[in-house]
This record gives sequence, C-alpha cells and structure tokens, in this order.
Amino acid sequence: MKVTVFSEHGKGHRENPEVVKQHPHGIQQTLKELFDGAGMHTTAVWQDDGDDGSMLTDEILNGTDVLVWWGHAMHENVSDALVEKIVKRVQCGMGVLFLHSAHMSKPFRRLLGTGCTLKWRDNDRERLWVSAPAHPIAAGLPEHIELAEEEMYGEHFDIPTPDELVFIGWFAGGEVFRSGVTYTRGKGKIFYFQPGHESNPSYHNPDVRKILVNAVNWLAPAFPIGAPVECPHVAPLENTGK
Ligand code: ZN
Repeated sequence: MKVTVFSEHGKGHRENPEVVKQHPHGIQQTLKELFDGAGMHTTAVWQDDGDDGSMLTDEILNGTDVLVWWGHAMHENVSDALVEKIVKRVQCGMGVLFLHSAHMSKPFRRLLGTGCTLKWRDNDRERLWVSAPAHPIAAGLPEHIELAEEEMYGEHFDIPTPDELVFIGWFAGGEVFRSGVTYTRGKGKIFYFQPGHESNPSYHNPDVRKILVNAVNWLAPAFPIGAPVECPHVAPLENTGK
C-alpha cells in the first residue's frame, strides 16, 4: 500500500522547541516512520511557509492509495487546483485520513461541504472513548484512552452527520467532541481523527499509533483506483425500442 503523508513544516514548526521536541524532523517524518514500520510504503511531503502544496506532485498523488493530511496555519496557501485533484482522486477510490487541525483544510471542507468549525482551547486532558468497538479502526483498543495533554476541540463541530462515529472525546473542561468520524465520497473513504496537536505527544501514544495504522489500513482502496467517472449516455440493457 502506498501512503503519502502531507504536513505543514514551516518556521513555526522547525523553530519552535515545543514542536521540535515532539517531532524532530516534522510531523510528516514522525508519521512516515510509523507507517513504514507497519509495512506500508510511505512518502512524506511537506508545506513550507507560503508554499501552495507543490511537493504533492501529480506523480505522487496519482500513485497514492491513502493520503494523510495534517495542516493548521497554511490551509489557505494550498492551491485550489490541488484541492480539486485530491477530490477527484478520492471519488475514484483514494482514502484520506484528515488529522487534528486539518478540519479546516481546503480538501476536508470541499469534500464535506460544511463549515467544519469547532471550539478550541490549548492543553486540556482528554478521555477518548471508543463508540464503535466493532469498527476496524478501533481494533485492539481498550474502551477508552487517556491523553494527559491535548488541544480541546469541542462541539458544535460543523460536519455532516457521519457514516460512523468511532470515537468520542471528553475533555476535563467539560466539552465533548466527535473525535473520530467516517464518510465516503464516491468510491473513496474518509476518516477524520482529532488528536494530534503539534506540541502534544499524542502521536507517540501507543494506542493512538494503533488507531492511525488501523485507519490507514481501513482507508485503503479495495480495488485499483481508476479514471474519474463521467456521465455517459448509455443504450438500454433491455430492448425498449429506444
Ligand atoms: Zn492544534
């Protein structure tokens, strides 16, 4: 399976000791090492300050089975042309894992069609509940996971009603959040997962790492990704005289 991890990696990450402590070579590299270690073939690309997503070339995108997207401060720099290419490939069968602040990324909002806004606050304690224990993304997990420090994301989360709600986050400040949700668009699957603030250690938590690997496996297309579907005019299957 070919996985591509896209993450912001501008000065705000490279020169912030709190981020470097968690991700010495960027979030994209932390996740690449995780997925490679799970037997996947992973390409890491990143977005530098002001970049429009140019590292995610047509060649890389067209060879991607599952795209993993982390973004925060540079969503608006991503080119609309790239967003349309991502949407088309999802419709053809590519899976996408949107992480944490990617809830406001252009491809996520374009695929879901809603505002995707939420409430937030830094450094809260989170208890992440498994709300769909039979779902493959929750395989091998306890009934809940404790994250000592994570960014609070709270309802209302302006998303369409999910196909499946796999995780519910509860925060020490009292808020709750739909922290793991699935969708399909065309032939492609989508999973959004809330933990993963850049200065918190969530992507080093063994249960979170299990979720991320489970998610990419679940998102993998079940068949070779084909060409975009047109709207063909067709002859009737039965003889209707037309
Ligand atoms: Zn964050």
